[in-house]
Amino acid sequence: MANLRFQVVGEAFKKKPLEVKAPAERPCEYFGKKVFNREKMYKYLPKGIYAKMIDVIDNGAPLESQVADAVAAGMQQWARENGVTHYTHWFQPLTEGTAEKHDSFIELDGNGGLIEEFSGKLLVQQEPDASSFPSGGIRSTFEARGYSAWDPTSPVFIVDDTLCVPTIFISYSGEALDYKAPLLRSLHAVDVAATQVCKYFYPDVKKVVSNLGWEQEYFLVDEGLYSARPDLLLTGRTLLGHDSAKNQQMDDHYFGTIPDRVQAFMKDLEIQALELGITCKTRHNEVAPNQFELAPIFEDTNLAVDHNMLLMSLMKKVARKHGFRVLLHEKPFAGINGSGKHNNWSLATDTGIRLHAPGKGTEDNLRFVVFIVETLLGLYRHNGLIKASIMSASNAHRLGANEAPPAIISSFLGKQVSELLDHIEKSDSDMLKMQGKHGMKMDIPQIPEIMIDNTDRNRTSPFAFTGNRFEFRAVGSEANCASAMIALNCAVAEALSDFKKRVDARIQAISSDEMFAPAADGTPAAHTARFHAILDVVREDIKACKPVRFDGNGYSDEWVAEAQKRGLDTEKSCPVIFDRFLDKASVDMFSSLGVLTHKELLARNEVKWETYTKKIQIEARVIGDLSMNHIIPVATRYQSQLLENVKNMQDVFGSEKASGLSERNMKIIEEIAERTSKIETLVEELIDSRKKANVIEDARQKAIAYHDSVLPKMDLIRYQADKLELIVDDALWPLPKYRELLFIR
Ligand code: ADP
Ligand code: MG
Repeated sequence: MANLRFQVVGEAFKKKPLEVKAPAERPCEYFGKKVFNREKMYKYLPKGIYAKMIDVIDNGAPLESQVADAVAAGMQQWARENGVTHYTHWFQPLTEGTAEKHDSFIELDGNGGLIEEFSGKLLVQQEPDASSFPSGGIRSTFEARGYSAWDPTSPVFIVDDTLCVPTIFISYSGEALDYKAPLLRSLHAVDVAATQVCKYFYPDVKKVVSNLGWEQEYFLVDEGLYSARPDLLLTGRTLLGHDSAKNQQMDDHYFGTIPDRVQAFMKDLEIQALELGITCKTRHNEVAPNQFELAPIFEDTNLAVDHNMLLMSLMKKVARKHGFRVLLHEKPFAGINGSGKHNNWSLATDTGIRLHAPGKGTEDNLRFVVFIVETLLGLYRHNGLIKASIMSASNAHRLGANEAPPAIISSFLGKQVSELLDHIEKSDSDMLKMQGKHGMKMDIPQIPEIMIDNTDRNRTSPFAFTGNRFEFRAVGSEANCASAMIALNCAVAEALSDFKKRVDARIQAISSDEMFAPAADGTPAAHTARFHAILDVVREDIKACKPVRFDGNGYSDEWVAEAQKRGLDTEKSCPVIFDRFLDKASVDMFSSLGVLTHKELLARNEVKWETYTKKIQIEARVIGDLSMNHIIPVATRYQSQLLENVKNMQDVFGSEKASGLSERNMKIIEEIAERTSKIETLVEELIDSRKKANVIEDARQKAIAYHDSVLPKMDLIRYQADKLELIVDDALWPLPKYRELLFIR
């Protein structure tokens, strides 16, 4: 009987890179070709409409219906010139990935013919039949339908023959059913809070934007091999598979030469992504074999999130064209690195100041310290929540494994910034006040940006400062970045507005208590009072956020104990971590910032627990099926062959001599018998624990049962199956092995 495995391995070996024809133009010229960006708006919209639309995008002005009609008409004209026949509202439900339902432009013309139409009404709002999207019961309890509404701040784009309109997705009673609605609210919250703090330093700042530059890690696997692995196909990860003798130990993949077939894929992907306005900048091999990374240039967080979602779906499509499957799962292979999506995050003003970068003088550096410290304070106060925002059934396999980062959220600042904070913390405030009276300035050392840019790095830190931004490394490769960005922006918004309140109170106290003389350099007194008020409050906060700062080895066991002492969240169970969304501090924060109501948080947690349960449920079924239908039958067949051999040996040599000669085979026969019977028992137990969990009504309790009693059995089964892989005849083994999945291109 032909073994499918050899067939697919052989075919994979022979595959050649696809010929990818680069466009005749340079990237700068075809960049954004498929996006209805400002340039196209200018071309396709009447002048007055263009100006109004820019006001809507930049200043949040309300969208008038005649403007929407005119914009829709311009879009349609552009779309038609590009061969587009359909349009869709493109949104980000609480599943992974995006959703779209395509409608064509055609309408009856009343005379038995057809016309093409696209009105402002269709552009602005749609009612996708949304009953099958997870909503945590919001829709069933409150309102049957949800609708999608255009987000004009993210430009419309074309995929194939379809005009895609980025939208938010909400229920008729106004609850968010997606990631984008709360993301937009969180961006507004951090804008408001940060702008107010900025005014202490730069009175002309009107707006603060949150920037995001994600780095997307992924694996590629040949599609023939992929299709011969039911676990990859159905769960996105290998549930079985013994280590390859060689994997990543030689460090020869990271930054290595990109294989030709992969290079062709990347080139194709990048051309298409650039046309869609995604600024692909960096590509390289990652640490694990067959693991790669793509990073664009950072941009406004809302757009960056959309672009990441778009890129992930584009990757899947382009990979198939090249005979690959892309694996976005955080841990597709045991024993080697998993994939993350580093979220490089920072705040910047409309006047071009990067708030997480040091500046030229004392003022700029005080502002720098304020934004660093308040970010840390947000990270500390909402430590568990921020971890919950990146947690999922799949990312749980990656966090805490022997690779960055651990399942404890702390921040690495690097030596220079740490010393700066320590210096401010220690400086005596009374002394400063005295000196302040005489107009002395606090010495906040000048920190050239170049000095702290990428100088010292700590790869184990989940939230590292890297010179002018924080790199949130714990985000999962498969995740929608919005989840992490909502939590982070809200935590920082809350910290900043609380900071502002305390500083204002202090300024008042100082001004009324004490008379300030102008500073030695002539700086007016109010300025000095403000300066000292800020410094006093920031000093308080440096002390308060200290426990979240950690520059050591995040992998060590001591760190877990130490983190616990510091009050950081060290919980490891994914469904329990989700509780942090419902903590009083989280609910208060989200509701006071107007980002998510308690009801929305409850509903979203239901979805999280249900999703968790379903994922583990599917995995448990697959590993059960694989064990019973693939592993045990093959192991038994090999065992029979060995038994046959032993019998033949006895026939030829007589039982006494044969028993010596068959010693090794006898051992294997026994080992197979033991391991297969263990697997059988474990699979029965697995089914049993699933049955017990399935009758639990409460979504949280059910997810916990899956975590506590189903998941651990899968590991035990895997252990036995992987041992069998080592002893069963390679010619019989049905599933492509790690060495084949990971090294064939
Ligand atoms: P690394 O060396 O950390 O792997 P990469 O070059 O792969 O870095 O990616 C860094 C990402 O950080 C890019 O998307 C880049 O545009 C982004 N980035 C750079 N500066 C900022 C900033 N100030 N705010 C947010 N993102 C930034
Ligand atoms: Mg990188």
